[in-house]
Amino acid sequence: MAFEGLTERLQKTFTNLRKKGKVTEADLRDTMREIRLALLEADVNFKVVKQFVKTVRDQAIGSDILEGLNPAQQIVKLVNDELVKMMGEEDAPLNKSPKIPTIIMMAGLQGAGKTTTTGKLALKLKNEQKARPLLIAADVYRPAAIDQLVQVGQQIDVPVYEEGTDVSPVDIVRHGLAQAAENKNDYVFIDTAGRLQIDEKLMQELADIKALAQPNEILLVVDAMTGQNAVNTAEGFNEKLDITGVVLTKLDGDTRGGAALSIRSVTGKPIKFVGQGEKMEDLDVFHPDRMASRILGMGDMLTLIEKTQKDFDEKQAAEMTQKIRENTFDFNDFVDQLTQVQNMGPLEDVMKMIPGMANNPMMKNMNVDPKDIEHTKAIVYSMTNAEREDPDILNPSRRRRIAAGSGRPVVEVNRMIKQFNQMKKMMNQMSKGNFAGMEGLMGN
Ligand code: GDP
Repeated sequence: MAFEGLTERLQKTFTNLRKKGKVTEADLRDTMREIRLALLEADVNFKVVKQFVKTVRDQAIGSDILEGLNPAQQIVKLVNDELVKMMGEEDAPLNKSPKIPTIIMMAGLQGAGKTTTTGKLALKLKNEQKARPLLIAADVYRPAAIDQLVQVGQQIDVPVYEEGTDVSPVDIVRHGLAQAAENKNDYVFIDTAGRLQIDEKLMQELADIKALAQPNEILLVVDAMTGQNAVNTAEGFNEKLDITGVVLTKLDGDTRGGAALSIRSVTGKPIKFVGQGEKMEDLDVFHPDRMASRILGMGDMLTLIEKTQKDFDEKQAAEMTQKIRENTFDFNDFVDQLTQVQNMGPLEDVMKMIPGMANNPMMKNMNVDPKDIEHTKAIVYSMTNAEREDPDILNPSRRRRIAAGSGRPVVEVNRMIKQFNQMKKMMNQMSKGNFAGMEGLMGN
């Protein structure tokens, strides 16, 4: 997951600062030096880092923070606010044309994830707005690129306009747009050619396509894993094409995250979406405020809640809350919950969005094996209905039968039942507003 190193360093810096009752100017200087190093190490552009540190320091000194209450807390807030500003402050929605179609030109270097992102975004619009997009295959240099777009189109059930590799890209785009007009498509995506690096010929071709198509949006797709190169690429494309936004891909990988923090400041263009996986569903709107809170290790509860809601219907959630409150949450509900969690993606990633968890030592050792969830389910499925509804009747002979039925050792059955009871108790306490039990769980 991105930003791990940065989060860790920043948290350490802030923990040291919090330990001091009073923060002197020397402490502030030390803290700012730590922050500067942390950002540089995360591969944030050095000019951006310089400006960032200067702004935070000036604000801390200019206000009465050091003399006021809780100076450490206030400095964290300054850093948070500045991170948000650096990444663009507001969410930047997709431009939309007043009349159909909205034309979105996709650009980027080869391998950045342009074709994949085209499919992801088309699917998102289809799912969220019932849009009817058309994808135009304008990369005539690599037959494989056309095949790939056709495959993506099939996967998400969206038509692809292509004319092979013998027609000029500008002509393909012209014909594709005519077809979109005929079919009344409301969105058109132009998947342009990528190269290994920026070259004049490619840029001229993209400029010609832009002049013809007059796109409402030119989205540049850049790979977060390439760090400073992503920033340089964005600068280069922006100079030639005046892009309207950036999609940062592979943020699920082990990137240091510097690109996310630099692109806006360096190019003045917003990051609009982030790619967080290889599947067609793995594209999220970029929210600068949520990203800042994730970087500071404060979790990203809003995204987590949205992810849950997507797979969770409200009525079911209300019923579950009621059961927890009345303490009637049973093993059937437990299996439902496990299935929901499984649908949300790798559990480690989900957990990291919970405040305090990203950098929790517990996470380091956590290695959630999807098989464990399957085993737990097998144990529950080997219970009778009466046992699922009333776990109190699970005496040793019943437990032995369940172990045999599920093919799991008795100790595992015992452990699972114990964990279930603990969880049930904790959830019931939390529903009454008592969070004391959480601390043990969070390892604080
Ligand atoms: P293009 O050459 O720019 O069109 O790049 P592709 O769309 O072919 O993507 C290159 C590779 O990156 C493929 O293997 C994609 O599955 C992968 N990829 C694209 N976006 C993401 C992402 O957000 N996360 C991960 N992990 N992989 C991605």
